[in-house]
Amino acid sequence: MNTFYVTTPIYYANSLPHLGHLYTMIVSDTIARAKRQRGIETYFLTGTDEHGINIERAAQKAGRTPKEQADYVVTYYKKMTSEFGLDTEHGGFDIFMRTTEPFHYQGVSELWRRISKAKTPRGNDAIYKGHYEGWFCAACAEYKTEDEYQKPKNEGEPPTCLIHDTPLDRVSEESYFFRLSDYDEALLSVLERRPDFVRPEYRRNEVISFVRGGLQDLSVSRLKNSVSWGVPVPDDPAHTMYVWFDALTNYITAIGFGNEERQKAVGFEKFWPALHLVGKDILRFHAIYWPAFLLAADIELPRAIVAHGMWLDPNGRKMSKTLGNTVELDVLRDHFPIDAIRYFCLREMVFGQDGRFGYEGLIDRANSDLASGLGNLSSRTLTMIARYCDSRIPSGLIPEDKLLLAKRTGVDTDETTVAGFIEHARDQFVHHFDNLAFSKALETAWSVVARVDKMLTDAKPWDLAKDENQKQTLGVVLYRAAESLRWLSAMLYPVMPEASRAIWRQLGVDGSPAQVDPTQLNWGELKEGSAIGEVQPVFPRMDKAKIMSQISATEPSAGVHATEADAVVAVAPTTQPAPPMKHATEADAVGVTSFIEIDDFAKVDLRVGQVLSAERVPKADKLLLLKIDLGEEQPRQILAGIAQYYEPEKLIGRKVVIVANLKPRKLRGFESQGMVVAASYGEEGRPVIATFTEDVPNGARLK
Ligand SMILES: [Zn+2]
Repeated sequence: MNTFYVTTPIYYANSLPHLGHLYTMIVSDTIARAKRQRGIETYFLTGTDEHGINIERAAQKAGRTPKEQADYVVTYYKKMTSEFGLDTEHGGFDIFMRTTEPFHYQGVSELWRRISKAKTPRGNDAIYKGHYEGWFCAACAEYKTEDEYQKPKNEGEPPTCLIHDTPLDRVSEESYFFRLSDYDEALLSVLERRPDFVRPEYRRNEVISFVRGGLQDLSVSRLKNSVSWGVPVPDDPAHTMYVWFDALTNYITAIGFGNEERQKAVGFEKFWPALHLVGKDILRFHAIYWPAFLLAADIELPRAIVAHGMWLDPNGRKMSKTLGNTVELDVLRDHFPIDAIRYFCLREMVFGQDGRFGYEGLIDRANSDLASGLGNLSSRTLTMIARYCDSRIPSGLIPEDKLLLAKRTGVDTDETTVAGFIEHARDQFVHHFDNLAFSKALETAWSVVARVDKMLTDAKPWDLAKDENQKQTLGVVLYRAAESLRWLSAMLYPVMPEASRAIWRQLGVDGSPAQVDPTQLNWGELKEGSAIGEVQPVFPRMDKAKIMSQISATEPSAGVHATEADAVVAVAPTTQPAPPMKHATEADAVGVTSFIEIDDFAKVDLRVGQVLSAERVPKADKLLLLKIDLGEEQPRQILAGIAQYYEPEKLIGRKVVIVANLKPRKLRGFESQGMVVAASYGEEGRPVIATFTEDVPNGARLK
């Protein structure tokens, strides 16, 4: 049967969700959507791991029972998944798994019983009772070996956990052991036979060398009088199961292992084995312990275990509350569209490696790739179809008798050229996507955006529109752009569900990209003559200065921007208004133009624009009225005092530099929404418009 099962880790319910949790959920959600889009019945699990001494302690501290503590944390996870469109209601996860569910107790007990009856590959009992003595970290919920703790400074003091920096407990107690040491060869054989079992490859190599270094038996229970919050060991209630044994098993109990009702509702055989997404910090549990338990119970191993990296701040430092460089979920929710966050997460982190996350970087990415890139392509294509083609999809074919005419404009008359390009890009995209190389896949998709953008710019539809004989040529150019957008919507749906649906709707295509398998797309299926929908901006440009100041105002100590913002504030005395830049007077003294700070320059928003139209202003012999595309939803109307030096028609299509955040002003009854940058020389102040010798997208910022 064609099914797929993907899991996030179940998150430990002792602290609130953060960016790392959101990220794994976004990745899993994207994978699940991509599978469903291709008609594969998919099950997507996320949830919380709710047992163990750590939760008992957190509960005690908060004056709650352990279950109340878990419930409390779960409300935050559910809030996050709802706010970021990751829950069932929004087409996201199928189950929010909780290890306190009675069916889970049943399933875990079943697995324990099976393993306790099993023999290891070397013929020993897989589970045995013994005594364990060692240094135990409550926060990690695991015993620490010598290389995993910090030796004490003074003799007689306990060592400290390398991760938590807290003293370890000396624990000696009766315990059940899982005979992990007997599974080294079996595990190595799996790792060698299945090169994709643990990914990426360097993580697989780490796992292999860890196993080769020798495995120690694993204590899989604690006495109930030291840890009571957990699943009791079957037939020996004086023991509580080790929290990892209990937690890992959720992946199979959720779909019906050991419980008939769940089995009927979901189906263990139907969906198992799973693709497990994990952080690199919990790789060992998933790539060694979990497969060993499954081998012992004679259950099929997971499809794969894929370790992703961590998010660092823009300077490459670990995020931490103390450094104040964390990315806050509330800030993301309040200031950023979900699709922009999803896009950034998948584009910015090379899957498996660490990535860098900052609000400013997110805005820059969204503005350049989404607002100026895909969003602009979509709005300019649809706006032109509305304007030139009466809001109907034009024909994608040039009639024989117009071929020569079309050729004269430089438009490629062979439609297989663009179709071939996009088909190849789609194949590459799907290939990278299936290998979880999301960043590469998105790069490929954006090569299509760039190509179609260039096609439009080169073809100059606004010129073609002036010539009745070139109506078909114009139609073909716009058809190709619209059809490419249909393909892009289908390809990008798993990454940006809302935006893809919006473009789809605006193209006037029936159904939803959620149901369109990108591998089955055929060029030319966009229907000629069909009406497009209402054209709306898909990715409005984000005002970086405004958003950053809002974020700073609401969260003065949070976020990576704090360092920059604080630095600026620190310069100015807080009790009095800031004096005029004092270094400016020094500069004046040596006779140079006043220096400005980089921040002052950053206040001027210089953008690349393209002249769409230019005409003389009646009764104003110096002024030209320009329509300039800044990669925004609408072109800007800008007046420029260059009429004596530039013929209007020669400016059309030209790339120019625009002061985009100049306060709009009225000239001769026309509003001017910006300023064209030009050099000025000679006594008469002859203007020379600044331009580019290399291709650059409209809306790109100069800095
Ligand atoms: Zn620890």
